[in-house]
Amino acid sequence: MTQVIGHLINGKMINENNRTQDIFNPATGLATKKVELASKQTVERAISAAEAAFPAWRNTPPAKRARVMFRFKELLEKNSDKICQLIGEEHGKISHDAAGELQRGIENVEYACGAPGLLKGEHSKNVGPNIDSWSEFQPLGVVAGITPFNFPAMVPMWMFPLAIVCGNTFILKPSERDPSSTLFIAQLLKEAGLPDGVMNVVNGDKEAVDTLLSDERVKAVSFVGSTPIAEYIYTTASANGKRCQALGGAKNHAIIMPDADIENAANQLLGAAFGSSGERCMALSVAVAVGDEAADALVEKMIEGMKNLSVGEYNNADNDFGPVITLAHKEKVNGYISSAVEQGASLVIDGRNPSVKGFENGYFVGATLIDHVTSEMDSYQAEIFGPVLQIIRVETMQQAIQLINDHEYGNGTCIFTRDGEAARYFADTIQVGMVGINVPLPVPVSYHSFGGWKRSLFGDLHAYGPDGVRFYTKRKTITQRWPSSTVREGASFSFPS
Ligand code: NAD
Repeated sequence: MTQVIGHLINGKMINENNRTQDIFNPATGLATKKVELASKQTVERAISAAEAAFPAWRNTPPAKRARVMFRFKELLEKNSDKICQLIGEEHGKISHDAAGELQRGIENVEYACGAPGLLKGEHSKNVGPNIDSWSEFQPLGVVAGITPFNFPAMVPMWMFPLAIVCGNTFILKPSERDPSSTLFIAQLLKEAGLPDGVMNVVNGDKEAVDTLLSDERVKAVSFVGSTPIAEYIYTTASANGKRCQALGGAKNHAIIMPDADIENAANQLLGAAFGSSGERCMALSVAVAVGDEAADALVEKMIEGMKNLSVGEYNNADNDFGPVITLAHKEKVNGYISSAVEQGASLVIDGRNPSVKGFENGYFVGATLIDHVTSEMDSYQAEIFGPVLQIIRVETMQQAIQLINDHEYGNGTCIFTRDGEAARYFADTIQVGMVGINVPLPVPVSYHSFGGWKRSLFGDLHAYGPDGVRFYTKRKTITQRWPSSTVREGASFSFPS
């Protein structure tokens, strides 16, 4: 019988037997499970559970809340093989890549373990005669997270560990395409000692999301996904009076300077462009080569490196990357490759429809290299989200910077150079939120914060790290005076100073 993935509400797994959707193994193209799509009533049940759990959890000492996270981290490590297998079966990424994603998620749990220190607040003594003042950071209440398919373990862990240690209760709506690893991870929290109702997972689609966006009991929404949906989430949540951070899509460029170590740059680009089939919001999908000499050398090295790449199934660790997520997405990626050719680019290596023995019905796209791309082409403007590296040739570094600054997205970028002055200038002037200098995927570690600029992020605060603590708490500033036997003050009608 087909397994039907349900919801985790108030510490219990429930199925409502309502609408369902197939879950596919993208390497075989076979439907393997079903996921329930929560109705409004089911989501409201989760919100009620989270609301009921909030008062006791809010008053649980931060050190005790953190202790749950310490145990949770151990359980994640103990169950890592199982989690990576669940990711591979539904997302398709290779086990070594899934392990990397999980590790990055665990690092966010480690950061959350420091909650007592993170929530210490600020104190000033004697701001006036016998008056002390302090700011404390209080939880918001019920908060929600809505996450994409491409990091089913890591992205949810950008959100709920920190939200929970800050004293909030949480409702997660994972991607309906690969929900199993996310749900399994959430179940580990109960084993770690988290009280029922503090963490809830509802699987679903727009109906579930819209319920979270409109219910006034939900105080804040964190979203990660594509830009059109991020914009919708941000505008709707904000109009409904909620705090919102909505991280969207990307188009990440690497500048290859004429003085760069081209062999090193090509090696770095292989992983950054094709790793996880290019389905990373930080994937480097455009190389901007400064000068034809750098461009020609890069193309030569890329061709050499790409010969050895292997695309295939998740549990063969020799594979470099797996299939893309759905058949429709495979067709979309192939369509962008075709459009680049039609619009005049040179297809150097064509990854459309690779042969993967034993997995003929899988959604595979091989590593693709396209040269002489221009900024007007559809394949340049859109986020392809596939294993496609496009090369744009420019004459100066200034043109390269302008190109990047003109793009609607501003998530990540990188420069390959040996010139410190150029690197410094690039880091200072580029209109992008996360910048690498000879580092192709500059994903901030858990004790910094993650977020893009322009249409890659809607909202003010970035995800996780110090911004995460601010997002999941609200500042309250208290000014206190105790009557003193020596200092007496009469009524005053001027503004206190
Ligand atoms: P998506 O926008 O299709 O889905 C994300 C979430 O939104 C899912 O939970 C989905 O169920 C929900 N959703 C989809 N359509 C909706 C609608 N009409 N109304 C309400 N909710 C809806 O994104 P995806 O395809 O799952 O993920 C890939 C995208 O996510 C890419 O664009 C990628 O760049 C982006 N992403 C961004 C970051 C970042 O940090 N900026 C990180 C990872 C992924």
